[in-house]
Parts: sequence; C-alpha cells; structure tokens
Amino acid sequence: MFNYQSITIYENGIGCNAGINMVNAIIFGAPGSGKGTYASRLQDKLSVNVIAMGDIFREIMKENTDLGREVKGYVEKGLLIPDSLTIRVLKQHITKIKNKKGFLFDGYPRTIEQAKTLEEIAKIGVIIQLVVPDWIIIERLSTRRICKNCGEVYNIRYLKPKVEGTCDKCGGPLYQRPDDTPKVIKKRIQVYEQQTRPLLQYYKEKRIPFIEFKTESLEMPPESAVKGILNEFEKLKLI
Ligand code: ADP
Ligand code: ZN
Repeated sequence: MFNYQSITIYENGIGCNAGINMVNAIIFGAPGSGKGTYASRLQDKLSVNVIAMGDIFREIMKENTDLGREVKGYVEKGLLIPDSLTIRVLKQHITKIKNKKGFLFDGYPRTIEQAKTLEEIAKIGVIIQLVVPDWIIIERLSTRRICKNCGEVYNIRYLKPKVEGTCDKCGGPLYQRPDDTPKVIKKRIQVYEQQTRPLLQYYKEKRIPFIEFKTESLEMPPESAVKGILNEFEKLKLI
C-alpha cells in the first residue's frame, strides 16, 4: 500500500502551512506546446514539485533493464506506455518526493484511466492549457534539444543555451531526443489528439478552473508566457 497522506491536498491552506496556498495543477498541451519549458520555470515560482512523466521515463530508459527496454519500445514509436505500467511508475516516483506546496503534473495524465488514478492521489485545483498552432509545434520540436543530465529544454533557434551544446542550469550535454524526428512527431501529435485531448472535456465537466494560454509566435520568450500564467494564478487567488 502506498501512503498518500502527505501528498493529498484537499483544501487551500487548510491543515498545511498556515496562510500559504497549496495547489496541485496539471500543465496540459500537445507535444511541443511548452509544458516542460514552462513547468521548470513555474516550479520555483509556485514552490511546487514538478512531476514530468516523460523525464521519468527517459531516466528509466537510461537503465539497461527489462523495464528500460520495454519503455523504450513505446517511446521510440511515439506511443503511450500502457496505463498499468505508467500508473505503477508514477506511484513509485511520487512516494519518494517530499511535497512542497503542491504538484505540477507535466505529461500526466494522458488518458482518462490515468486521470481517474490521479484523483486518488491529489486533488487538482487548476489546469493550465497550452494552445499552440501545429506549425509552431513542428518547427519547435525539430529544433529542440534537451539536457541529458537534468532534462531542461532548449532550442537551437529560439531558446539557445548560453554556451552551445551545454545546459545553462547544470552544465550537462544537450542532445536531440530520438523521438523528435518528423515521423515520430507526427505519431505523437496523433496520439495526443486521440487519447489525451478528450481529457480537456473530462476536466471541464468536473468544473476545475482552466488557465488557457495561447502561443501565436515562435519568438515568444518563455518568461513572458510564465508571467502570463502566473497572472492568471493570481486572478484565481491561487497565489
Ligand atoms: P512530449 O514532448 O511528447 O509531450 P514527453 O517528454 O512528455 O513528451 O513524453 C515522451 C514520451 O514518454 C511519450 O511520447 C510517451 O511515449 C511517454 N509518456 C510520457 N508520459 C506518459 C504518460 N502519462 N502515459 C504514457 N506514456 C507517457
Ligand atoms: Zn541540465
């Protein structure tokens, strides 16, 4: 049995650090919509723990284990890892974390089944929905690089590191994800549309507040997006 006591947050502030709001959020959007980029910047500003499912799976893939190979088989094809496995991995990961002021989920949930499991773990207070046109997604993903060490996201045209090929945050080497190829990108977008997009309706029906954030230009710096998102948090009195 997992003990979720320390990670289940039912009311803002109640039973937690007095006067400090606590919130669990999901950052939601197609591949390349900016989830990871914004989540890593929102982490400190909101004092939350980011749970980045893709990063967790990339760590697992580094291991030369049966599990690593199984995960790789799906990721390389742009397919979702089966729910039972994803849910098991999430639960194992989350019990290891000392909670701050809440969680920001990036890349989880991606199916209705996963969303139902999340309900047993944490009460979601807000959904950040990133809306980005397809042409921006394709351009961004094909020029994206990530840090092998810490998973930070860069772009060789639009979000360059200070030193070429090196992570600003940790000095780790940058690489292109093997699933950032045109064929796999296409598949991931298709999988998003079919399996993940229906979650938006699912959460709307649950009347969870949405923060919708639109990107219309490739040049928009992540900092302005983050500022826009934080403004909405304030308006909803979540911070
Ligand atoms: P993206 O840029 O497509 O949003 P992520 O880094 O979040 O990428 O995820 C990379 C891959 O990891 C996905 O294409 C999928 O194979 C796997 N993955 C990540 N999160 C999940 C999840 N919640 N359920 C199933 N598979 C997942
Ligand atoms: Zn790094």
